[in-house]
Amino acid sequence: IKEESRNDYQIFKQSLKEGFKERFKLETELHKALKDGDFELHFQPQYDLKSQEIIGFEALCRWPHKEMGAISPDQFIPIAEKTGLILDIGDWVIYEACRLNKKWQGEGLPKVKVSVNLSARQFLQRHLVSRVSEILEETGLEPQYLELEITESMAMSNERYIIDTLNDFNDLGVKVALDDFGTGYSSLKYLSQFPLSKIKIDRMFIQNQTKQNMAIVKTIIHLSHALNLKVIAEGVEKETDLDFLLSEKCDQVQGFYFSKPMPESQIKTFLNE
Ligand code: C2E
Ligand code: CA
Ligand code: CA
Ligand code: CA
Repeated sequence: IKEESRNDYQIFKQSLKEGFKERFKLETELHKALKDGDFELHFQPQYDLKSQEIIGFEALCRWPHKEMGAISPDQFIPIAEKTGLILDIGDWVIYEACRLNKKWQGEGLPKVKVSVNLSARQFLQRHLVSRVSEILEETGLEPQYLELEITESMAMSNERYIIDTLNDFNDLGVKVALDDFGTGYSSLKYLSQFPLSKIKIDRMFIQNQTKQNMAIVKTIIHLSHALNLKVIAEGVEKETDLDFLLSEKCDQVQGFYFSKPMPESQIKTFLNE
């Protein structure tokens, strides 16, 4: 028995060490990827339901790793957040998204918005607004062609600071959307107090069309409109999803039904079609 429990302990220690090594490795690799310019952005179109026109793209970070293959943002973003690397990665994402959007405009393509995801840590850093303003100036992109997506998770922290920052973004002319709506912890009180422009219904509610979820989606759409907010549904995969959203007068949609996120090299053909 003694022997066995010592074995368990050894195994426990070993797996702890492996886990640590794994995380440490990813962290080192993240640093390297940033330095070597290994990250890429993919873009997923967003459509207006009334005009049926494309209105923008959400920029999604990709990390094609030479040995490990593609690493999902759900894996590396949380590590980047813990280590603080998200600030540099996030800065690169904003810059790259603005730069590419300006480039497309320069090629005479229809003008669209680019939406960039901000992590909580990034949103809460001081000087974020002036940094975004600087990026817009440097890339030459007009502010109405950039949109930011924040999540409810950050709504738990300093309310006053969030309101001030959102007002500063409004002054700058950059709209901010609340991502993954319905999955976080923010109360409806926050929704009425934060100067946002758009609510993004989490794909969880779109993908399981239970009676309950359909009721929730309906309610979020009505609530958004009552508060003068636009509402977008993500994760639209089936025609029936779309039919439901059309009948409920959702403003915008995004999802695999229309297109998966695509590399920059495909944007030109996509926008010209
Ligand atoms: P998100 O912001 O909620 O992004 C939407 C995710 O849903 C993307 O996954 C997208 O590829 C996926 N998606 C879009 N349409 C469909 C659909 O119809 N069905 C299904 N099943 N999925 C769909 P992705 O690209 O793997 O990103 C995962 C998450 O990683 C994002 O969730 C976001 O939270 C985070 N992320 C990605 N890029 C960035 C970034 O540049 N900065 C930050 N802070 N976070 C990012
Ligand atoms: Ca998002
Ligand atoms: Ca989302
Ligand atoms: Ca999500």
